[in-house]
Amino acid sequence: MISRPNTREREQSRSASTPERSGQRTNGVDSGHRNIVDRHGTWSNFSGRVHAQPSRVCYPRSETELQTLVRDTRENVRAVGTGHSCTPLCATDGLLVCLDDIAGIVAISKDKQTATIRGGSKIHDLGPTLRDAGLATINQGDVDVQSIAGAVSTGTHGTGPSLGSMSTAVRSMRIVLASGDVLECSSDVEPEIFKAARVSLGAFGVISEVELQLVPAYRLHQREWKEGVSGARSFISRSNQNRHLEFFWSPARDVVYLKSLNPTDDEPSDLPDQKRELIGHSADVFPSIREDPFNELEFAVPAAKGVECFQEIRKMMRERHEEVFWPVEVRTLAADDIDLSPAFERDSVTLSVHQAADLPSDKLFADAQAVFANYGGRPHWGKFHTLEARELRDLYPNWDNFLKIRSRLDPSGKFANPYLRVLLGA
Ligand SMILES: Cc1cc2nc3c(=O)[nH]c(=O)nc-3n(C[C@H](O)[C@H](O)[C@H](O)COP(=O)(O)OP(=O)(O)OC[C@H]3O[C@@H](n4cnc5c(N)ncnc54)[C@H](O)[C@@H]3O)c2cc1C
Repeated sequence: MISRPNTREREQSRSASTPERSGQRTNGVDSGHRNIVDRHGTWSNFSGRVHAQPSRVCYPRSETELQTLVRDTRENVRAVGTGHSCTPLCATDGLLVCLDDIAGIVAISKDKQTATIRGGSKIHDLGPTLRDAGLATINQGDVDVQSIAGAVSTGTHGTGPSLGSMSTAVRSMRIVLASGDVLECSSDVEPEIFKAARVSLGAFGVISEVELQLVPAYRLHQREWKEGVSGARSFISRSNQNRHLEFFWSPARDVVYLKSLNPTDDEPSDLPDQKRELIGHSADVFPSIREDPFNELEFAVPAAKGVECFQEIRKMMRERHEEVFWPVEVRTLAADDIDLSPAFERDSVTLSVHQAADLPSDKLFADAQAVFANYGGRPHWGKFHTLEARELRDLYPNWDNFLKIRSRLDPSGKFANPYLRVLLGA
């Protein structure tokens, strides 16, 4: 379903949306957005590995402004969330669009247990409002600083063998296309597009709104404990006994740190007598603090092979990368039906290898990627990898379908950048 801005709205948005590179508005209206470029006009991602020199950075304040911006520009357009991806997905020398000012919850349906959320909303801003409405997200990742559109666009996930990525919780979305028109899609409206759009790397257009499936608000009891590395062997069977279970393998100590989260009716508490235990509202318990910048590579492998793959990664790192102190994180992820989802039609175990942002990681990541290749590993789109279209096509059965939809929605490649052209081969 497609809608166009009317003429009056276009005029209003034209006068209100002429931001300078500094990110400040020329019409003097205060805005809540960050300035995402430095004084030289350079944009960088979270780890500082990716830099870009966009010709313009714009912070539209409404979907209508966004439509006008996208429609009127002749430049390439990339949308950026909080820049927490390690790959150059957002890098552009054209127009960089940041949706910080298109944020907030539009509507909550207690009956359907859904919320309609503007694309630039940060995940951490959703929790309190949803909780007041008696609702909560189904699952979340390690941090909650990302924008909802950015998180969904790369298939951001947490852990839980029966829980899909955040993209699987999307019930409908609104996307501003290259023409400036808005496309609405859901499992009932444009279902083929919807299936692909839920992990679409900003390649279809700019997502202005998503409707998220929620669940009744719940509390989680978090427990963390240490085990010998043999504890990893029973990871899958133990995952099935917990709503969320993950482990971090410490290469320096060769031990695993497990973390479980399970629903509880108990009151929120720090459980001061219990080391590394707490009870809280789900949105407060899911996120951890990750302040030190790092680069990360993550692959999803078939769940049944996850532990074996972990053992091979461990062997490789002990033999060839003794210098690495950052942990390997191992999680579970339920299969889904999204064309470019790393969990497409496959229950998965995800394995992440990290290295500090100021230390070399190329050799480590190349060695890890080679191990994952033996397991048919599919890369996390927001984390480092060097796979290109030729290799990726074999890993994603619906690859061609995704490309077909992309050329239908963005025939001139307005939303492309050099990285995407290599990644998607088109
Ligand atoms: C500290 C840290 C912790 C992390 N933890 C996890 C985790 O637990 N689980 C996990 O799966 N991943 C995790 N990630 C990866 C992260 O969730 C993804 O890279 C996510 O996409 C980042 O969201 P963002 O808002 O920063 O998007 P960006 O990195 O800014 O953009 C990501 C992609 O989304 C597109 N995009 C952004 N906004 C829009 C929009 N409005 N419309 C269309 N496309 C858009 C961009 O063009 C780009 O292709 C982590 C990353 C870091 C740095």
